Amino acid sequence: MAAGKTRDAIIIGAGISGMYMLYRLRELGMSAQVFEAGTNVGGTWYWNRYPGARFDSESWTYGYSFSKELMQEWDWKEHFSPQPDTLEYLNHVAEKFDLRRDIQFRSTVTAAHWDEAANQWTVTLENGEKTSARLLFTAIGILSAYTLPAIPGRSSFKGPAYHPARWPHTPVDFTGKRVGIIGTGATAIQAIPEIAKQAKQLTVFQRRPNWAAPLHNAKISKEEMEEIKSRYKEIYAHCATTPSWFIHQADPRKTLDVPPEEREAFWEKLYAEPGFGIWMGNFRDILVDEKANAAISAFIADKIRQRVKDPKVAEKLIPKDHGFGARRVPLESGYFETYNRDNVTLVDVINDEPIECITPNGVKTSKQEHEFDILIYATGFDGVTGAFDRMDISGTNGLKLKDAWTESPRTFLGMLAEGFPNMLMVLGPHTARGNIPQAIQHSVEFQTGLLRHMQENKLMRVETRPEQVDDWTETVIKAAEPLLSSKVDSWQTGVNRNVEGRQVRRVLGYNGNGAHFRRKTDEVAKGRYKEFIFQ
Ligand code: NAP
Repeated sequence: MAAGKTRDAIIIGAGISGMYMLYRLRELGMSAQVFEAGTNVGGTWYWNRYPGARFDSESWTYGYSFSKELMQEWDWKEHFSPQPDTLEYLNHVAEKFDLRRDIQFRSTVTAAHWDEAANQWTVTLENGEKTSARLLFTAIGILSAYTLPAIPGRSSFKGPAYHPARWPHTPVDFTGKRVGIIGTGATAIQAIPEIAKQAKQLTVFQRRPNWAAPLHNAKISKEEMEEIKSRYKEIYAHCATTPSWFIHQADPRKTLDVPPEEREAFWEKLYAEPGFGIWMGNFRDILVDEKANAAISAFIADKIRQRVKDPKVAEKLIPKDHGFGARRVPLESGYFETYNRDNVTLVDVINDEPIECITPNGVKTSKQEHEFDILIYATGFDGVTGAFDRMDISGTNGLKLKDAWTESPRTFLGMLAEGFPNMLMVLGPHTARGNIPQAIQHSVEFQTGLLRHMQENKLMRVETRPEQVDDWTETVIKAAEPLLSSKVDSWQTGVNRNVEGRQVRRVLGYNGNGAHFRRKTDEVAKGRYKEFIFQ
């Protein structure tokens, strides 16, 4: 449908969130228009096509669970699905539920303004087209506003330069090429081993190292997939009870209460197992207690020393400014061994060779000019609020969302913001996250319940009560206080040195127990949404 017509709802984004929201709105008999910047569905999995991109959560907990038929007909091929398979899955979902007919691609939303008199939102696209609807859903992801490094001379580089979140649709051939990559976050940790296999020379520019642990990916056999399918109900029910909605549950023991030998044996077991167990299935205090955290950090540091042959390089790869798990732990496949290759060099840009500028030929540090054929900026995202900041969103009385959230996002349950009626956020700031698709589904289902309540009671407008926003904001901030991760700069604490005004830590997610979050949302629904103001 062309922009300009009126529908009940506008959804921004056709990733996992927008696709599911569309499906549910149709079920409610509502008409919706989705605007998507890309040329197809998939969101994160549409954009991030870099080599090595894959889930680091178990594939069979990452799909939609709303349709038994979909679950039973889809075979995941690997325990941690590679990006092309995931994108294929999302395309399959779009086909199966005929979603594309309500999605307008190549349509970047630049503004969304609430019109108090008309009781509706007007959304403006990059090309100036405008569309209005009573309801607005933001389904824009938490890691979609990618950021390039604030290094002088960036545009002067004469070879191709890529950010992994805008990777070309045709594979990049690194054969015989000298490649430079800036950044060592989860993205780079997946890409580096793959690029190193092809490139003539790969130089990694590392500012701060990240802790990482083995992914241990494996193919899923037909029999195994059948067995997983037979247990789906149980698997999803179990995830709903864990703090982060993954399969992993923390061990109830405290680290230092466990005798050292038993502790080591437990950690060896976790390190040898696939997935996030080492982070989320570990002793319950490793993410809050400094001493417990120091012990697990020492264990992981030794693993890095064992895996990297050059002790100087190994030391450089061991984080010294934060403990294990205090930033989101990337899971890797041969990342550390990559530094044992002759064609890979690690450059420490903090202690050894600060980057001065990008030149037409490569990267100039304080010591030398590194020449490259290809440059990769794996420099991350303006997390969570970045995608909101990139749109001009205004609510009642022309209140700008960016101004309302200068110091901290202010929401109720991460789903509605004060002063922005009828704007519902899927995966908004201050919501529970963890296993993202499960968080998305929970959020969409809560919002569907709220809309059904509105339909049944002929209500046209929903807003949060200011006191609920105050309470929720305080709950979220309190939940983050005990966590070691709150004391560390990362996208999760809202720090991005490449973005002006993003140097101060903020709480951006609900870091309490996901099961408690579910309970809270269930109570709101059971109480017939009395926390909201309706008209
Ligand atoms: P990131 O974790 O924020 O890493 C960005 C990297 O770039 C950091 O090493 C950062 O250094 C470096 N950097 C930024 N600006 C720089 C500059 N000007 N000079 C030098 N270095 C610079 O971003 P990411 O790797 O894209 O990952 C973001 C998140 O995406 C992850 O935490 C994860 O949640 C998600 N992700 C998930 C998967 C998956 O599911 N498999 C895969 C990839 C990503 P500092 O650390 O010093 O800032």
